[in-house]
Amino acid sequence: MELRWDRLNWQDFEDLQKKGYDRVILPLGTIEAHGVIPLGTDNIIPENIAQRIAPDIKAIIAPTVSYGVTRSLLHYPGSLSVSSPTLKAYIFEILSSMVSKGMEKIVIINGHGGHMDELKQIAFEIHEKTRAKVIVIHWWILCQDLGPEIYDTEGGHAAVDETAAIIASAPETVKKDKYSLDMLYHFRQGVNVYPSPSTIIIYKENTGALDFDAKKADDYFKAVCQKVKDFILDIFERWDK
Ligand SMILES: [Zn+2]
Repeated sequence: MELRWDRLNWQDFEDLQKKGYDRVILPLGTIEAHGVIPLGTDNIIPENIAQRIAPDIKAIIAPTVSYGVTRSLLHYPGSLSVSSPTLKAYIFEILSSMVSKGMEKIVIINGHGGHMDELKQIAFEIHEKTRAKVIVIHWWILCQDLGPEIYDTEGGHAAVDETAAIIASAPETVKKDKYSLDMLYHFRQGVNVYPSPSTIIIYKENTGALDFDAKKADDYFKAVCQKVKDFILDIFERWDK
């Protein structure tokens, strides 16, 4: 069933709403350098999670917001950014407009770490002002225990977890031949470095090395989608009680 907002016509949209589709998923990311996976990684992954879970949570999938607040990797070729106030105003207006069209539950699936504070603020503000119910999911954090279960190592930025999600979602975009182990940069607490010296960033020493196995990537991404879906359904159920 077609659930993408921008592929439906207005009559389809009305029919879906009559059937109880008063939930919307907004995939959101940015354009940013990402190791051996695409600049749009942070958009591609939330979009694919949305595609896989939308029918089971009775949600319409809004067009992705592809431009976010990019910071430490902005200097790399092809990375783009908008400012924090611009992103906040834009998302606030998009969500307000959706609420005015009868959307009562909003799920933002975020793919990018650089604007998590902004999304938290907007989610609260929308709820305060419209009474719409809002969930923001930073998928890689909610699912951070799944990487070690399948890969025996923790993830990071453009590390094993994000790369696996892209192998499962858009395998043709992965540039395996450009990978070398020295691309992994260990981010340490207590320092700020601009620009980041590498686009693959790990948070614990000797973790995050890429694995290009397609079967493992599929298993990982299936587990991610399941976990995100189960979380949302549990919140919906609790809200409805
Ligand atoms: Zn990313």
